[in-house]
Amino acid sequence: MVKVQTGVVHVIGGGLAGCEASWQLLRQGVRVVMHEMRPKKTTAAHKTADFAELVCSNSLKSMNSGSAPEVLKHEMQSFDSLILRAAMRARVPAGSALAVDRLLFSQYIRQELEASPLFEAVCEEVIEVPSEDVLRHHQSFCILASGPLTTDKLAQSLLKYCNGVDQLAFYDAIAPILEAESLDEQHLFVADRYGKGEGDYVNIPLSKEQYESFVDDILAAEKVPLHGFEETKYFESCLPIEVMAERGRETLRFGPLKPVGIVDPKTGQRPYANIQLRRENDQGSMLSMVGFQTKMKWPEQKRVFSKIPAFASMEFFRYGSVHRNTYVQGPKVLAKDLSLLANRRTFLAGQITGVEGYTESSAIGLIVGRLVAGYCTGKQYTIPPKNTMIGALVDYVTVGPKGDYAPMNVNLGLLPTIQKRRGVSKAERKVQQCDAAKQAFNLYLQEYGASSLPVQGYLD
Ligand SMILES: Cc1cc2nc3c(=O)[nH]c(=O)nc-3n(C[C@H](O)[C@H](O)[C@H](O)COP(=O)(O)OP(=O)(O)OC[C@H]3O[C@@H](n4cnc5c(N)ncnc54)[C@H](O)[C@@H]3O)c2cc1C
Repeated sequence: MVKVQTGVVHVIGGGLAGCEASWQLLRQGVRVVMHEMRPKKTTAAHKTADFAELVCSNSLKSMNSGSAPEVLKHEMQSFDSLILRAAMRARVPAGSALAVDRLLFSQYIRQELEASPLFEAVCEEVIEVPSEDVLRHHQSFCILASGPLTTDKLAQSLLKYCNGVDQLAFYDAIAPILEAESLDEQHLFVADRYGKGEGDYVNIPLSKEQYESFVDDILAAEKVPLHGFEETKYFESCLPIEVMAERGRETLRFGPLKPVGIVDPKTGQRPYANIQLRRENDQGSMLSMVGFQTKMKWPEQKRVFSKIPAFASMEFFRYGSVHRNTYVQGPKVLAKDLSLLANRRTFLAGQITGVEGYTESSAIGLIVGRLVAGYCTGKQYTIPPKNTMIGALVDYVTVGPKGDYAPMNVNLGLLPTIQKRRGVSKAERKVQQCDAAKQAFNLYLQEYGASSLPVQGYLD
C-alpha cells in the first residue's frame, strides 16, 4: 500500500517511463517518491536492481534522419529527456542505431535522479492504486508506470478503474500493419463482405495453389520462442495464424482468410481464399491485416507474406507479435491527459498505456511527468499536437485507431502523409514527412514551450 505523502507525486515503477516521468517532475521542482519493487521482488524479465533496466535488446532504435524513431528522439531532446541523455552518454557503436552500454545507462539515470534532494526511492511492491480521495486529501498525484509485467495484485487493483476485464489485457496479439502505398494495386480490390459497408476493406484474393503454399510457408516459418514465463494462453477469438494453420489446412480458410461474401471483380467469382486489410487511420495510409496476429519472426513475416504478389514490395509499419504484456485499452479508460477516467489523480505512463518499446514508453513517461508537474506547480503544459511524433503517440493511446486497439510502436504511419509527386522519391517524401513533424513541433515549442526549462542539445 502506498503511504501517500502530502504534496508529493508517487511514481509506481522505476522503469523507463517511471524514471523519465520522475525526472520531468524533479526539474520543475516537484517532490517525487518512486516505488520500485526490485530487488525485493522482481519480474520474470528483469535481472538487476537497476533503474530503467533494458530487459532485452540494448538498442533505442534508429538515429537516421527520415525515420520515425529519430523524430521522436528530436522531440524528447527538446524536453531534456533523461533517458535520451543517458543513452547518449552510454552510447556504443551500432551503426545508425542508438545502442547503449546498459549498465552505464542505468547507472547514469540513478545518479541523476538521486542527485536531487526532492527525490526518494522506496523499495516495495505496490499492490493497490491509491484512491482519488486519498490523493486529493494529500494534494498529491500518482503515476502508474509499472510496465508490461505489472505484478498481479497491482493489475487487479488497476482493473477496478478499468470498467471491465476486457479493458486491461495481459497478453497482446498483434497483427501486422502495412504501408498502403507499398502494396501492388494490380493484385487487390476494395470491397466489403456482402457489399455491406463503404469500401472500408482491401481484399487480396488467393487461388487454391497460392493458399496451399501460403499455409506451407506459415507452418515452416521460424517462430519467436515463448519466454519461460509466457504460457500459451491464447484467446480463441484471436489465435495466431500459425496456431490456426497447425489445427488443419482448412482452418485459415474458415477463419481470417474466409472468402464468403466476396466477389473478385477480375473473375466475377468468389476467390478460393481471401486476405482482408482494414484502414487503421483516416488517411488510409496504414492498413492492418485482419485476424493476422502472429508469432513468426519479423524477417519471416516479410519473407512469407512477400511471396503473395500484392505484398511483393510490402513495407511494415508494425510487425505482428504475441507476448505477455499488461496494457489498458487506452481510449476507453484514459482521459486526454492520460489520467484514469475513473481516478483523475492517477496517470498511466509507459508501456501500460498501449505503446510498445523503450523509447515510446519513455516518451509517454516524459509527457505525463510534464503534465503532472504542471498540475503541481500551476503552470500549464500542453501536449504537442498530433502532427508531431509525441502528439501522435498520445493521440493513439487516448483516441485510438479506427480498427482494434493493440500496442503501437513509433512509425511514420502515425503522421500525416505527403502526397505522391512526380520526381519525388519515396525516401524523399519520408524525409519531408519527418521535417513537417519537426516543423509542427517547433511551432508548438514557440507557442507553448516558453515555460519549459532551457536544455543543452546533446543529440548532435
Ligand atoms: C521480455 C521482454 C522483452 C522486451 N524486449 C524489448 C526490446 O528488445 N526492445 C524494446 O524497445 N522493448 C522491449 N520490450 C518492451 C520494453 O521492455 C518496454 O517497452 C519498456 O521497458 C517499458 O517501459 P516501462 O517503464 O513502461 O516498463 P518497465 O521498464 O518494465 O518498468 C516497470 C517497472 O515497474 C516495476 N514494477 C512492476 N510492478 C510493480 C509493483 N507492483 N510495484 C512496484 N514496482 C513494480 C518493475 O520492476 C519495473 O522496474 C520487452 C519487454 C519484455 C517483457
